[in-house]
Amino acid sequence: MRPTGALHLGHYHGALKNWVKMQSELPCLFFVADWHALTTHYDDPSIIESSTWEMVIDWLAAGVDPEKATLFIQSRVPEHAELHLLLSMVTPLGWLERVPTYKDQQEKLADRDLATYGFLGYPLLQAADVLIYRATLVPVGEDQIPHIEMMREIGRRFNHLYGKEKGFEEKALEAVKKLAGKQGKQFTEFRTAYLEQGSHEALEQGRAILAGSQSLSAADRERLQGYLEGKRKMILTEPQVRLTEASRLPGLDGGKMSKSYGNTIALREDRDSVIKKVRTMPTDPARVRRTDAGDPEKCPVWQLHKVYSDEPTKQWVQQGCRSAGIGCLECKQPVLDGILKEQEPMRERAQQYIDNPKLVRDIVFAGCDKARALAQETMREVRDAMGLSY
Ligand code: SF4
Repeated sequence: MRPTGALHLGHYHGALKNWVKMQSELPCLFFVADWHALTTHYDDPSIIESSTWEMVIDWLAAGVDPEKATLFIQSRVPEHAELHLLLSMVTPLGWLERVPTYKDQQEKLADRDLATYGFLGYPLLQAADVLIYRATLVPVGEDQIPHIEMMREIGRRFNHLYGKEKGFEEKALEAVKKLAGKQGKQFTEFRTAYLEQGSHEALEQGRAILAGSQSLSAADRERLQGYLEGKRKMILTEPQVRLTEASRLPGLDGGKMSKSYGNTIALREDRDSVIKKVRTMPTDPARVRRTDAGDPEKCPVWQLHKVYSDEPTKQWVQQGCRSAGIGCLECKQPVLDGILKEQEPMRERAQQYIDNPKLVRDIVFAGCDKARALAQETMREVRDAMGLSY
């Protein structure tokens, strides 16, 4: 997560809640992506340092548990940068230019000059961030799927270029000859189409040949599977997407909750400020007077009811709004209660870290050491494979 300002409840519902769940299921690494923040905030990095520590407190407040997960700061593990550099040697420019968020973000952040090398390369830095831990799952939203796809391509390309197993190629070619009839030739063509043009259809067709072939031993089939995918030995692991459940919390105006739209509630926002913000939230514009009936579908408060309220409350809103049976302030109360209740344990958990910032630093520095040991292990193999282990 990039440290570019205080986290809000949208971050909690969109990501942190999922992190808290994942940390009990799998070994997890969560990091402050400070270098990523620099790709867009290079001209004013002052926000990065303060946001870094505040953000870690927000994570801890949300329930991320340093006993279960490893929390660290990207720039404290410089191996990320080394892998980024080495991967940049083998990454075709077109792969980066094609990432859909590249143009999108450039347009959205038109007030910044993002025609930089760092900004173009940030999906590759992300790839290094993930591949360096041989991560198997990356929790992301749908918009990030193309980035994970690219990481997989890069990992595969790296393994193809540098993974070595003695005699693998020869053994694979022998196994190809064992495929019946024209299948050997087709298999080779599919492999070429996949490895050179990235055709997933060809990959599936190659796999179908292997699955249907009676003439291969299990060892040959496994070898050809690797040969088809361009692997010889796995140095880097291709990660999979773990889609974050779509629990999007809308902003106070009904749009996407985002700092730049000024419609947020901060994760640990002061109680009085939350009360004021919810009480002054816009409602269905048709309800000018208390006696005017409204339509919840046209009201941002209803969007919040969907997240915070139980079924009977939701029915009460639907019925009461459409019949002008309830007033808007009355309708907002359960939402307000829900938000305050959600924030209470967060504020409590955060307090000890606010009182004692050293605790946060200790957690992060221990996490950095742990992450660094893992990253160094991968880098030893990467350097070795690339002939750089002098
Ligand atoms: Fe919105 Fe509730 Fe007012 Fe209806 S009663 S307009 S749902 S705040």
